[in-house]
Amino acid sequence: MSAILPFCVSDSKVFSIATMETIDNYIDGKIVPPASGSYLDNFEPAMGEVYSLIADSGERDVENAVAAAKDAFAGWSTTPAEERFEVMMRIVALIERDLDALALAESVDNGKTLAIAKRLDIPRAASNFRFYATAAMHIANESHETTQAGGVQALNYTLRQPLGVVGCISPWNLPLYLFTWKIAPAIAAGCTVVAKPSEVTPMTAFMLAKLCIEAGLPPGVLNIVHGTGPKVGAAIVPHKDVKAISFTGGTKTGEEIAKVAGPMFKKLSLELGGKNPNIIFADCNYEQALAETRRAAFANQGEICLCGSRIFVERPIYERFKADFVADVSRLKVGDPLEADTDVGAIVSKQHFDKIMSYIELAKAEGGTILCGGNAVDLTAKTETRPVGSVPTRRLGGWYIEPTVIEGLGHDCRTNQEEIFGPVATIMPFDTEDEVITWANSVRYGLSATVWTENLSRAHRVAAKIESGIVWVNCWLLRDLRTPFGGVKDSGVGREGGFEALRFFTEEKNVCVKLSEPPA
Ligand code: NDP
Repeated sequence: MSAILPFCVSDSKVFSIATMETIDNYIDGKIVPPASGSYLDNFEPAMGEVYSLIADSGERDVENAVAAAKDAFAGWSTTPAEERFEVMMRIVALIERDLDALALAESVDNGKTLAIAKRLDIPRAASNFRFYATAAMHIANESHETTQAGGVQALNYTLRQPLGVVGCISPWNLPLYLFTWKIAPAIAAGCTVVAKPSEVTPMTAFMLAKLCIEAGLPPGVLNIVHGTGPKVGAAIVPHKDVKAISFTGGTKTGEEIAKVAGPMFKKLSLELGGKNPNIIFADCNYEQALAETRRAAFANQGEICLCGSRIFVERPIYERFKADFVADVSRLKVGDPLEADTDVGAIVSKQHFDKIMSYIELAKAEGGTILCGGNAVDLTAKTETRPVGSVPTRRLGGWYIEPTVIEGLGHDCRTNQEEIFGPVATIMPFDTEDEVITWANSVRYGLSATVWTENLSRAHRVAAKIESGIVWVNCWLLRDLRTPFGGVKDSGVGREGGFEALRFFTEEKNVCVKLSEPPA
């Protein structure tokens, strides 16, 4: 394990840190080391080197976190909504104050470009808190006036009570964005939280913990336990005092969680994998479809669950679209995530890099033709990309893959059925609307889909028939936080977003009050 933390560059500023930073837990309002005293390596994907250490927590830490959350629940759940709003808005202000530092940390930790971290990840984390801070002030309960035959009258009203301690477990691809997407509605609803970010990208969750302390979030309302899924996640899920699990991650992990939590009758929200179709009809707005298809396939190195990795193009424009698309994709620059003109940054880990490369080999074995990309990119020769000051020049020894477009595969081969979650897309011609709907729906997943057409009737018709939780027509990743977000089939159970998430973190209780006897 290396003992020197590589330096990080933000704009013209150079930060150098002499000792390896340790990422510790946030329990009961304090930053605390793991009970075991041991730490895991945390890698910087751009460099392929360890740059910080992460608490290797376990059952004892989860136990402490749950105890703190349990103690905090009575106070937090009865705190007036306006006070919850105010503390959450202070967190928003602090995230926005530290936007540059958080974006830099996200880019260094994940390998994503600094540009996308600044434009998407960190602003969205602030938006998540802002959205649910205000939602806490607006959620209302229903009432039903009842009159029965014979004249008995009653008033039914529904109480919506926070569940108690809840578990939030998130993945590495949009670290702070998805972490806060769960935490914000949970605490807005009055729950207290034990949360686990991905061990692969823990840094911004650690920074968030410090911002929560600064914002005055009461101790125990949010507890963050770092470490691995099999140790920390697997201790949160079955804990008897954790009433619900909100999980985003892979379908296989979701299955494991459901197996444990299901028989315990815990509430479960599972946001899982995707293999999303992008359907382009010949009557589309060509230039828009071309540009957005490239973005949908390769944004964030293709490491977004909503990426459109199966591209279906109607035959009359197939050859033209393919040529233009491949030319565009070939121009994307793979490089240092911190450089302003980089389009595709580093892959998050060596393990994930190997997985993506194995799928490129599989595609070839299945008869696919690589139209562009297909190779790992070695940037180790590129050592002077950053202002160095007194800090030694660093080697970009991390994990990079060329954006890859593959043709010639059937819709039912493994490459087109399994989630790759990297900068790899397939392109296929189709002839009829029915055929492309069948192909689009042929996978086990059903998270999102994109449809490009100027034909209004067709847009609605196809949107209704596609098996997915989200359909974008003539756009991609255009989000409104009020809308239900989630998948069908093996892409998940439940919905996040809007009041759906507040409903998830609360339990409904109907109270029926008899108002009058029937007339004598
Ligand atoms: P994983 O399922 O591997 O991990 C997700 C989280 O679960 C991590 O924090 C992980 O810990 C933890 N975990 C692992 N095992 C267990 C367990 N047994 N019990 C409890 N928690 C556990 O997913 P990835 O992090 O690899 O993320 C990529 C996946 O996430 C892709 O499939 C992608 O499609 C999906 N995703 C879905 C989204 C959606 O909204 N539907 C959005 C974004 C991503 P550890 O730190 O050890 O990995």
